[in-house]
Amino acid sequence: MENGLTIVYTGKGKGKTTAALGIVLRAVGYGKKVCMIQFIKGSWHYGEMASSKKLEPEFEMITIGKGFVGIIDDKSPKEDHEEIAKEAIKISNEKIQSGNYDIIILDEINYAVNLDLISVKDVLNLIKSKPQKIDLVLTGNYAKNEVIEIADLVTEMREIKHPFQRGIKAKKGIDF
Ligand code: ATP
Ligand code: MG
Repeated sequence: MENGLTIVYTGKGKGKTTAALGIVLRAVGYGKKVCMIQFIKGSWHYGEMASSKKLEPEFEMITIGKGFVGIIDDKSPKEDHEEIAKEAIKISNEKIQSGNYDIIILDEINYAVNLDLISVKDVLNLIKSKPQKIDLVLTGNYAKNEVIEIADLVTEMREIKHPFQRGIKAKKGIDF
């Protein structure tokens, strides 16, 4: 049996979540089952929330706290974010152990650790307890050294230029 990989996309530059979505597109082409769990829920709508439906049933996307949209944003109390991140850890555990998926993506999980919403230990436990054959993808800047150490593949997106620096706003289909 092929061993699964632990893959980390981190760094300040743009491209972490979209790189993970690139894996989804590639893997679904082989009929692989992929589940993406979003750890930090903002009030934004992302195109992948709709396109994921077109890749069902191979691709499943879980946006936790969807009912909080418009309520949970940057101004909401930390406890609300914490609750969502803890729920995301719980669901991730269930999905990882379910045996229903080939690849599991934990989107923005590194940020959740950096913001102290979950502990790095939670993340290390997820990685260490995964069935051998599953590929695990973790995204978000500020990946902890402990996570980097046990991962198999780590890519740091380095910002060279971003239109935001010139005051250009986020673009539909590119940024969200
Ligand atoms: P993407 O989802 O586009 O791959 P990302 O996952 O690398 O981006 P996040 O930290 O999750 O980046 O940020 C999410 C949002 O912030 C996206 O709209 C993204 O385009 C934007 N963004 C990412 N990097 C930068 C940057 N260096 N400067 C300004 N905005 C950024
Ligand atoms: Mg992202």
